[in-house]
Amino acid sequence: MPTPLIPVAEPDLGGREQEYVNQAMSEGWISSTGRFIDRFEQEFAEFCGVDHAIACCNGTVALHLILAAMGIGPGDEVLVPSFTYIASANAVAYTGATPILVESDPITWNLDPQRIEEALTPRSKALIAVHLYGRPCPMAELEAFADRHNLLLIEDAAEAHGAIVDQRRVGGFGQAASFSFYGNKLITTGEGGMVTTRDPDFARRLRLLRGQGMDPERRYWFADLGYNYRMTNLAAAIGCAQLERIDTLIERRRQIEQSYRQHLEPHADRFQWQLPHQDPEIFHVHWLFSMRVPADQRDGLMAFLRQRGIDSRPFFHPLHTLPVYEDARYHGNRNLSQAETLGNTGLNLPTFSALDSATIASIAATVVEYFDRLESKPDPSVHVVDAP
Ligand SMILES: *Cc1c(COP(=O)(O)O)cnc(C)c1O
Repeated sequence: MPTPLIPVAEPDLGGREQEYVNQAMSEGWISSTGRFIDRFEQEFAEFCGVDHAIACCNGTVALHLILAAMGIGPGDEVLVPSFTYIASANAVAYTGATPILVESDPITWNLDPQRIEEALTPRSKALIAVHLYGRPCPMAELEAFADRHNLLLIEDAAEAHGAIVDQRRVGGFGQAASFSFYGNKLITTGEGGMVTTRDPDFARRLRLLRGQGMDPERRYWFADLGYNYRMTNLAAAIGCAQLERIDTLIERRRQIEQSYRQHLEPHADRFQWQLPHQDPEIFHVHWLFSMRVPADQRDGLMAFLRQRGIDSRPFFHPLHTLPVYEDARYHGNRNLSQAETLGNTGLNLPTFSALDSATIASIAATVVEYFDRLESKPDPSVHVVDAP
């Protein structure tokens, strides 16, 4: 039987997850009311340093809920980096508004603050800052930009729980932030999401729309179109247990990054790799360890790793290259070549708590081996793919 691949991600359920789920079960609170929901919302808000957190059923609807609560709709434009996961733009499209795709910064891999202004039009209503792979965007700078141009600012923090920039945790900037608790994220509830905000009126609006728009004072009275975007108490039970250990889980990922870096950095110049940029001013949570390699070697490297029992992921395809968003009105004639280069050159290596240092060393050694072989036999398609 073939040995299973070392996965890219794997949840760490080694705390009180099972115990809390059993409690929710035995108490009979398995739907979207219950003490774990209240506790998860309260403790997540505290973790992010905000007053309000609204749990919902995934990260995509968390973002949709924010946009819906802002009243964003047809005729509006929302600025989104082209290089992101599809959900960041899909949530905009669900409202009938148009996502306007923005160029990336080749160093941070996040949206390039210098390239937002060129995408503005009189219809621009909001800007979504996505903290990719655990690195926070420069939020003080983006808040100032949003103020200057009268834009609502949203954080898509699905990949960056706990990251810190400008002395604050993500989730506490702009009008609101969305988080995901999908199974491969930094903390998980299976499927799940959260919105955080500092604005009490906005929080009330989010709660209303999450629960079908029902008037909290009058049962079955609906003034607005709402949604059923609630989280279950069972999912929240898992979330409470995950949150108890979030600092340890983040610390573990930072150690994994250090360990990969230690093994790979000595070879970076020789093989033209780019490792995650180090910035002492930010607290990067390294959701997935990522690196860039020359474009014509990326897919060969991934195939070689797979053959050696190591799974990996390519970077996202920039959204303007995907059939669903290829329509020119999303990006106009703007040059998005940095986003394209990122999409063609990046990959994510296994990053999860249970990964031990010997395994990290052997994954890194396999990466180095692929490039060593390329040097001696420059045609990877012939010589590398049939390696032992
Ligand atoms: C995972 C993710 C989402 C969506 O989260 P789901 O919980 O899968 O709906 C949104 N944005 C980004 C950047 C993500 O990585």
